[in-house]
Amino acid sequence: MKRKIIEEISDAELNLFNKKLRKLKSFKGSGTELISLYIPYGTDRSSVMSQLINERSQSSNIKDPNTRKNVQGALKKIINLLKQIDFNIPKNGLAIFCGNISKQEGKSNIKLFTVVPIKRLETKLYWCDSEFNLEPLEEMGKPTEIYGILVMDKNEATIALLKGKKYEIVGKFRSNVAGKIRAGGQSAKRFEHLREEAEYNFYKKIAEAMNKALVPYIDKIKGIIIAGPGMTKETFLEKELLDYRLKEKILGTVSTAYTDEYGVKETIERSKDLLKHTEIIREKEIVNEFMKHVIKTGLATYGEKETIEALELGKVAVLLLSEKLNKTANYFECPHCGHKETVITNENEEVQLNCKKCGSAMELVEEKDYIELLMEKAKVVGAQTRIISTETEEGEKFWKIFGGIGAILRFK
Ligand SMILES: [Zn+2]
Repeated sequence: MKRKIIEEISDAELNLFNKKLRKLKSFKGSGTELISLYIPYGTDRSSVMSQLINERSQSSNIKDPNTRKNVQGALKKIINLLKQIDFNIPKNGLAIFCGNISKQEGKSNIKLFTVVPIKRLETKLYWCDSEFNLEPLEEMGKPTEIYGILVMDKNEATIALLKGKKYEIVGKFRSNVAGKIRAGGQSAKRFEHLREEAEYNFYKKIAEAMNKALVPYIDKIKGIIIAGPGMTKETFLEKELLDYRLKEKILGTVSTAYTDEYGVKETIERSKDLLKHTEIIREKEIVNEFMKHVIKTGLATYGEKETIEALELGKVAVLLLSEKLNKTANYFECPHCGHKETVITNENEEVQLNCKKCGSAMELVEEKDYIELLMEKAKVVGAQTRIISTETEEGEKFWKIFGGIGAILRFK
């Protein structure tokens, strides 16, 4: 069976990506003045630059003076950014969103946001509208958690992968156990032995198929559910034939009436609570581990300053960030001397800055979600990031007591 490529996206990345899309979606331009620019990896630099310059000269025909000013301002910012990054487009491509997001009539507040797609971007697009065009990205943000499902009894087994709400059958077979008919002259004992042997071989076949289908995605698989009618699934598990890496991911067993594709559907239907429960458990576990280290071992830190310091020293094993952390990293650059500065503000807080070196008004080049900035820092030092909701008591505590930012450390 042909295996589809399953993308390597962490929960934290997906979470942040969707948060960014929601934010971009909330902006409305008063005219056709919000620009979306999609640049796939490998796009020719001069084709993009000449298109932008062409758009800029055409924008002088825009009748409404505010819209004209905003479109021209946005194009200038985009061109600046591309020059600044020297057209180094990430492997997945780059999406740039720029325009006036001020809600006050006549006032302009032109902001630029970049999004690195979580999957490879194929669409090249320049779009100017009263809202940002997010279509090529929205599909990417759909959930990609993977669960393994095995539905089985003594006669039939079906293996499926569940990605978001879709499942894919990756293995399907029948045994010949039931078909074994006692041959004339064969002793009952001998027959029983053969039957058991056939049963064991069937379990072995299932386990091998499970290992083959699931082990390659082991890092992305969040859990495995074993389902089927009766006790066969329990007997199968007792034989311990599965790869140890798969065993660790078994969430539990579910009873179903069928062992074919219907059985897979039944399993998904009946596992909802089990899966939701798992998410909650995972979150509780990581926050509890963090708190245990705070109290007992000292192998944890919290607070913005302390956590960033630990990150920069390469001490962080797991970075914990509350999804309530609504801050923005503002990247400034001096148009005269090129001096750069990053200022962290609360979301939607406006900030103006004068250059420390030459005193000129600095230009806001780009805005980033603070969580993204921290995740990038974590990635550099090989730390894992976990985004913590406030849906659990532990998550709520993490936000209220620890300020929503902390880390489990590798060393003190
Ligand atoms: Zn300066």
